Amino acid sequence: MYDLVIIGSGPAGLGAAVYGKRAGFSTLVLEQAPMSGGQILNTYEVDNYLGLPGISGFDMGMQFREHAEKLGAQFREAEVFGIENGPDRKIVKTSAGDFEAGAVIIASGATHRKLGVPGEEELSGMGVSYCATCDGAFFKDRTVAVIGGGDVAVEDAIFLARGCKKVYVVHRRDELRAAKSLQEQLFALPNVEMVWNCTVNEILGTEAVSGLSLHDKKENRDLELFVDGVFIAVGISPNSGAFAKTVKTDASGWLEAGEDCATSVPGIFAAGDVRTKKLRQVITAVADGANAVASVQEYFLHIKG
Ligand code: NAP
Repeated sequence: MYDLVIIGSGPAGLGAAVYGKRAGFSTLVLEQAPMSGGQILNTYEVDNYLGLPGISGFDMGMQFREHAEKLGAQFREAEVFGIENGPDRKIVKTSAGDFEAGAVIIASGATHRKLGVPGEEELSGMGVSYCATCDGAFFKDRTVAVIGGGDVAVEDAIFLARGCKKVYVVHRRDELRAAKSLQEQLFALPNVEMVWNCTVNEILGTEAVSGLSLHDKKENRDLELFVDGVFIAVGISPNSGAFAKTVKTDASGWLEAGEDCATSVPGIFAAGDVRTKKLRQVITAVADGANAVASVQEYFLHIKG
């Protein structure tokens, strides 16, 4: 039995592991793949984490993990199916067996959302991608489109513009939601063209992507863009399915928890992107890891005494 089982090895999970070990807890981190970092692994460059300007997402994940390992956190590869809630212990059910814990921190993060248009599924991996840093190199000197207007879409477009001949950014409104500093970088690039007020009707192509059918909402007309690749960056959904029966979620599936990371179930905490929160950033995820462990300490004091 562990004092603390942490589900997920992104910034929130690794932050919790560091704080958990420093609090003297036997700490196990369950991760789906032996590659820490969560969503930052798909980020070419993280430029807003204090003290580490311009670090690659991969290096950041590795540094976070090394820190947790150095303090003695244990890691185990396992897919988590759910948590059984007992009065004095929790049982985490996984593909690698059951793990008992005094408390559990769910830090399972979020994954990219789908656009849900014809062609998306059929051409996935054949020109449709959700990860510019993973697949961008396949489109060197070619023309691509990025769909979305948030931080991820703009970061992806900036990254792709380094190698691609042309990058269209297709956004459904006439202003971006991404951070102003990213917008400035984007608008300064000569090979980026904004396609405003357009939604995607269909991703075109048979064996590979050949273009996009768009609808211009302002002009109320359809148009086609000829592109070799489409990078979809339209937001994220919580990885909360395995826990939704045990702890309360909001209507969109985010685990309901405040800054103390306490869920509706005593002894089960939610940290990072998977919980209800305003700002989903690496720095706020790491902070959640620390706050969640402080709440675990309080919880242990409460049940002991
Ligand atoms: P996001 O901020 O939710 O942006 C999603 C974008 O996709 C929005 O511009 C949205 O349009 C658009 N969109 C949503 N559904 C669409 C649809 N069906 N068709 C067309 N467009 C659609 O998501 P994100 O960019 O993935 O970022 C997720 C979170 O991670 C954010 O909180 C972000 O700040 C954070 N993040 C942090 C860092 C960092 O810490 N360095 C880096 C990247 C991301 P509207 O604008 O019209 O709603």
